[in-house]
Amino acid sequence: MDSRLVIRAGRLLDVRAGVVLRDVALVVEDGRVAAVIPAADAPAPTEARTLDLSGLTVVPGLIDCHSHLVGYVQEAGVPATTTTPAQEAFIGVANARATLRAGFTSVRDLGSFRAFVCRDLRNAIDAGVVEGPRMQVAGAYITAPWGGGDVVGLAPDIRLPDDLRFGVVTTPAEVRDRVRRLLIGGADVIKCIATGAVLTRGGVPGAPELSEDELRAAVEEAAHYGAFVAAHAHGAEGAKRAIRAGVRSIEHGSILDDEAVAMLAEAGTYLVMDLYDGEWIAEAGRREGWPEETLRKNDETMETAVAVFAKALAAGVRLAFGTDSGVYPHGLNARQLAWYVRCGMTPAQAIRSATLTAAELMGLDGEVGTLEPGRFADLVAVAGDPLADVRALEEPVLVAKGGTVVRDDRPAAR
Ligand SMILES: [Zn+2]
Repeated sequence: MDSRLVIRAGRLLDVRAGVVLRDVALVVEDGRVAAVIPAADAPAPTEARTLDLSGLTVVPGLIDCHSHLVGYVQEAGVPATTTTPAQEAFIGVANARATLRAGFTSVRDLGSFRAFVCRDLRNAIDAGVVEGPRMQVAGAYITAPWGGGDVVGLAPDIRLPDDLRFGVVTTPAEVRDRVRRLLIGGADVIKCIATGAVLTRGGVPGAPELSEDELRAAVEEAAHYGAFVAAHAHGAEGAKRAIRAGVRSIEHGSILDDEAVAMLAEAGTYLVMDLYDGEWIAEAGRREGWPEETLRKNDETMETAVAVFAKALAAGVRLAFGTDSGVYPHGLNARQLAWYVRCGMTPAQAIRSATLTAAELMGLDGEVGTLEPGRFADLVAVAGDPLADVRALEEPVLVAKGGTVVRDDRPAAR
């Protein structure tokens, strides 16, 4: 026996070409794919450790470009004001595990209300203390006072602890200061709240909240550290400022106009649209009696978002998969793939958005997003044919991260 692991795949999805390869074997060394060869040429199980997935379809581990693993799932109240940082972190441990077991082996975690808790979760996962996906983390939100990343809804004379307001800024100089501290402090990516938010009390999703100078300061400062900026922007004006400032991605984009869509295509800026969470808010919010204002904003942005998605797809905008997990329960991330198909993508395109395109957005396409040689052996195996029905990915049979099996529901393994 040698140190190699051989993973036999009955069907392997080549996400780059959008085709299925039959009866192949992945040779894994040190957690990475060393070679993809015909199964007939693979070492016998007596010669090398073998994982037999010959009855399943193997897909590269899925990637969610917009998660919030830390803290409880969004409720009607003002976020993060009735929990300690420790509570937020402990529930984050469960959320990370649920996400990984759902087949999402990497996430770009776009912030926690308590600054740096997402960084600490990432570090615990990397150290092997906690089970979870590979994480890029934002650390906090760069936001205007009372903006979409601030804690809004309390009486104005209530003083909040500093870690809840770490990223609140009023000038480009303050933006540079916070970006610097976040990146020196261990964040991987910067999250700017460029417009109002659906879930913030009183927030107006169409209203810009950061100036173009502030957004440009974030992009320039982050670039000194080799980091990208993600801009939360529902409305067109905020998104246009962010695109001109050079952000890597627009998040949500639910009420973009045609000019903003054209600018995304022209600049090559990624668009990350969350659609499944709107369905969840509409159901859970009505059941649990959320504020009427929140439900109205959710309905309005959902309706426009579906149209924006179709226009962006037709315009050739780079669409990367992101769900805003934490707005809905973690682990249901794959349900959004069917939304992308409903809005015009083929199943192959939807899966590519959650693998190859997502990895490119994160600057990690040499590491994850495909099962080509050199990449981590991150994979999800399913019983059905995801190219025929993308919902097959909602029920993973087996999940592996770096060649280590983290979920195994194969009949023989039960
Ligand atoms: Zn978010």
